[in-house]
Amino acid sequence: WPTTGEDGESPVEVVGHELVHSGKVRGLYVPLDPQTGGRDDLRLLLAASDRISAYDHVLSTPIPDKGSVLTQMSLWWFDQLADLVPHHVVSTDVPEEVAGRGVYVRRLRMLPVECVARAYLTGGGLAEYAATGTVSGVALPEGLVDGSRLPEPVFTPSTKAPVGEHDQPISFTDVEALVGPRLAARLRDLTVAILVRGNEIAAGRGILIADTKVEFGVDPQQLADALGIPLEQATEGEVDWAGVDPDVVAVVLADEVLTPDSSRFWRADEWAPGRTQTSYDKQVLRDWLTSPASGWDRASDAPPPPLPDDVVALTRDRYVEAYETLTGRAFDPSGTTSS
Ligand code: ATP
Ligand code: MG
Repeated sequence: WPTTGEDGESPVEVVGHELVHSGKVRGLYVPLDPQTGGRDDLRLLLAASDRISAYDHVLSTPIPDKGSVLTQMSLWWFDQLADLVPHHVVSTDVPEEVAGRGVYVRRLRMLPVECVARAYLTGGGLAEYAATGTVSGVALPEGLVDGSRLPEPVFTPSTKAPVGEHDQPISFTDVEALVGPRLAARLRDLTVAILVRGNEIAAGRGILIADTKVEFGVDPQQLADALGIPLEQATEGEVDWAGVDPDVVAVVLADEVLTPDSSRFWRADEWAPGRTQTSYDKQVLRDWLTSPASGWDRASDAPPPPLPDDVVALTRDRYVEAYETLTGRAFDPSGTTSS
């Protein structure tokens, strides 16, 4: 976690807020009313830390400014995508403890699906293709290899696994069973449209976005009204998603979008199907971790060692470079620079 001081383990405290969830990299806070101390039901504070993960481990060494870079990048993308999908951001005027890396968002009822789309074949998609010739059940041409561009982006959803477990791939039919056919189709179409738009923009700037994961939610009050259920139930109780018409209840883009944590970024000029692609953001880190210099055995259960300063600095540079290349803006850690 950023600015936590010594242990680097516990999330930063934010005055006037209660931490309600801490993920591997981000924290979620509920604002408290300064007078009554009561919880604000409408907003959440979402703050990205400087922690970084590699090879399924969260490393003990943070990357300075990473949380801020990713938050600024997400904000920029929300803007770029605003004509495709509404987003959850309310304000970037946040407490100083999380300046630059925190955002206030509308509190949404999240849909129970991790929405993934792939424009290029690699990772879990490649593994499925090698075994069955399909990705998420969608038949693909023969002869594709690691890094191949798909004829068109494919929706490859997964479950939202509980903390500490891995998301499991599911089929489109499974998504229909979870949220009904209308919402399932909307989630698929929006996810694919976001990745297509992302690549249209990034391609002109030398970056390929191989795949991405997004999360969507709906306004609890709208949900309650549409289904005729109490607000409390719409907020955290049982919901009959199949009864929701996405033309009536707006599907809102939440969480983060098209960041290197939620997506695979590749350098367009180094793209070479048939091998593992180099990662725009994490390659320096991965190369060091798997080199003799780190002394770490990836196959062991041991946590990776602390990172040397030069690896930290080079990795930070990569994140800043990705942000500046994509957005054409100079990176400002405090996030106060407009356009
Ligand atoms: P991991 O580290 O594996 O990603 P995680 O998904 O639990 O774990 P985060 O992604 O950091 O951790 O946590 C963000 C959480 O906030 C997610 O559960 C996400 O669904 C939720 N979330 C994001 N935006 C909103 C929103 N607008 N309203 C309500 N919940 C939200
Ligand atoms: Mg997450």
